[in-house]
Amino acid sequence: MCAEPIAEPHQHVVNLESRALMCTCRGCYLLFTDERAELRYRAVPDRYLSFPDFSFGPDDWDALQIPVGLAFLFHNSVQDRTVAFYPGPAGATESELTLDAWQRVVDANPRLGHLRPDVEALLLRGPGREHPGYSAYVVPIDACYELVGRLRRLWRGFDGGQEARAAIEEFFARVAQRSRPAPAAPEASS
Ligand SMILES: [Zn+2]
Ligand SMILES: [Zn+2]
Repeated sequence: MCAEPIAEPHQHVVNLESRALMCTCRGCYLLFTDERAELRYRAVPDRYLSFPDFSFGPDDWDALQIPVGLAFLFHNSVQDRTVAFYPGPAGATESELTLDAWQRVVDANPRLGHLRPDVEALLLRGPGREHPGYSAYVVPIDACYELVGRLRRLWRGFDGGQEARAAIEEFFARVAQRSRPAPAAPEASS
């Protein structure tokens, strides 16, 4: 974004039109943290939220039409809709997400009102051998793309295979460790 050399680790901004992520220095990052401003870029925050009492079941999962056990959803403010993606050998693939299906999830989980458009995603995982229920976290969107990139290289067969599953386990363990419970639902603004 500027000539400033970028250190590791560093932060990212999202280009709202192209959905591309850009690496930024701290100064440029701070330019784009204002969520109300009419800007082409948005700073990706660094927060992780857990939903210990997440209300979600097999019917909700079916409604999302995700063929693998993992999905991430975010609100695309340019298209003014919530979109769902899942990982695979081709990277991130979009799933048809109906407004109804998403609205049901939000109505059952008002704390999702904290999800910030464009820069944060709701990460969902279906039941597995070591985790019987559905898991849900709000994570920075760059963390999702990082996971998708990693899975793309590891993916084998239909369900991803052993290495992809191990990478997902490791990712969720890290997310769980960094997360704090989502605060109470934001006040409805009128
Ligand atoms: Zn970067
Ligand atoms: Zn800069």
